Amino acid sequence: MSLTTLLHNALSELHYPLDENELRAMKNPIGMMFGHVRRKGAHRIAHQGWDLAAPEGSSIYALTRGELIWTHRWTGAEEDKYGNQILASFTYRKKTYFAFYAHLSDFNELRKGSNQLERGQELGWTGTTGNADIDSPHLHFEVRTTSAQLHKGLGGRLDPGEFFPELPKLPRQKACFI
Ligand SMILES: [Zn+2]
Repeated sequence: MSLTTLLHNALSELHYPLDENELRAMKNPIGMMFGHVRRKGAHRIAHQGWDLAAPEGSSIYALTRGELIWTHRWTGAEEDKYGNQILASFTYRKKTYFAFYAHLSDFNELRKGSNQLERGQELGWTGTTGNADIDSPHLHFEVRTTSAQLHKGLGGRLDPGEFFPELPKLPRQKACFI
């Protein structure tokens, strides 16, 4: 874990989702940010969160004390683009939000009874399930305002930069993919 992460986790209300938190590099330098429009054939798709570069198998963590709300196992179907996914509640400035983690290699299953989470609890591991590029492993990370299943567009999502304003100013992944 880097000194930046250690200091952040010690001093901030929110624990970082990864040990190393680095926006993924792409040809377009803002392509991994929230709301950026990507072209997929004839379609224009707004990116619904952040892409944080992470080698396969990196641990992901709860941002605060909260609850594991739901998990989704990748079906392998083309439309199942976010692969293995989990949603965990967290609190920030006394309000409840939901952190969405996608493209995971694996995650801790829901338990019968309590699914309470401690701040910084390990929830699962990054991967490339769904439509993630195998050559550019990353965590797709969203902040949501609802625990309901969401679909296309930016509805129900917030810019993670409202919660981690310093992160885009940190060094970015050096290698360039895609
Ligand atoms: Zn993404």
